[in-house]
This record gives sequence, C-alpha cells and structure tokens, in this order.
Amino acid sequence: MCSPERAVEVRFRDPRTFGELRVLPGGVAPVAPDLFDPAVTGVSLQALAARRRVGVKAVLLDQTQGVAGIGSYLADEALHRAGIDPTAPAGELATAAWERILVAARAIAVDSIAAGGVTLEDEGWVDLWGRPGTYAAELQVHARATCAACGTPTSSAVVGGRRARWCRRCQHPRRRR
Ligand SMILES: [Zn+2]
Repeated sequence: MCSPERAVEVRFRDPRTFGELRVLPGGVAPVAPDLFDPAVTGVSLQALAARRRVGVKAVLLDQTQGVAGIGSYLADEALHRAGIDPTAPAGELATAAWERILVAARAIAVDSIAAGGVTLEDEGWVDLWGRPGTYAAELQVHARATCAACGTPTSSAVVGGRRARWCRRCQHPRRRR
C-alpha cells in the first residue's frame, strides 16, 4: 500500500462484473491461503468441511476459508476430473477425495494460465492486451450442454451462489472418496 501523500492510480477492469475493489483502512480483507500454498492440503480442506452440509462446490468457492483462487469454472472442472458431484454434502467427503480435487484444481489452473484463461462466448474476458484465453476448448463440463469426456448431457444447479455443471456419469452422486 502507498502512503496517502503519494498519488496512486488504480485501474480495475471487470468484464464479467463479479469483481469488487475496496480500499480498507488497516489493510486487505482476510483471504484464505492461495491454491498453490503448501498449507492447503486434502487434510486441511477435509477439516474445514467437516460437519458442513453445503455442497462441495460451495466450499471450493469460499475465498475467505480453506483456499483462495478457485472460481466457478475451475471448481466445475476440478470436480469433474476428481469424479466428485459438486452438490455432494461437503462434510461427507473423505480426505482422499479432497486431495484429488486439489491436485486436479492445481493442474487445471496451470494449464489454463498457460492457455491465457477461459474466454466464453457470453463473457468478455480478455487479458491486459485484449487477447482472449483459449482454455475454453479444454473444458469438460463447465458451460457445456454435454460432457466432453463421455457425451452425457450435463446436470446443472446453483451451489454456493453460482451455477454448477457436472456429469452424472463421470461424477457419481454417491461417490465420497
Ligand atoms: Zn461424463
């Protein structure tokens, strides 16, 4: 942060209108450890989710507890790769399942960043130089009518305030580990 005497210009571009910029006295709002922070583990996520009845995706989207940096598409895709239904009660998931979700989310984030991110037709995400990302072509279930892996029509529900998409065949509703 800069001292008040210094002139500062902050530019905030928010094409998808989910963003928020706040200047708070005393520093930034509390945020959970980043997705790539070694403190975030299957054990830490399982402990956070214990006894919670919310859907798994809601825990992944919560930026203030557990892990920061997972948005809607990354949660959908990580849960698909891990074979976990996003609406499954978070408290019922075994540590092994959280570990698999975490490994998947990290791998997908790395690949997506390398591809410039996800630009969907109805959203105007472009990078600072105006270039769209190309990772949308790799999406398996997010924003898709059918699962790219098996062709099953995707399911959809609101979980944690955001639309979740998943494949009932790849992500069995009763799988918890
Ligand atoms: Zn599938």
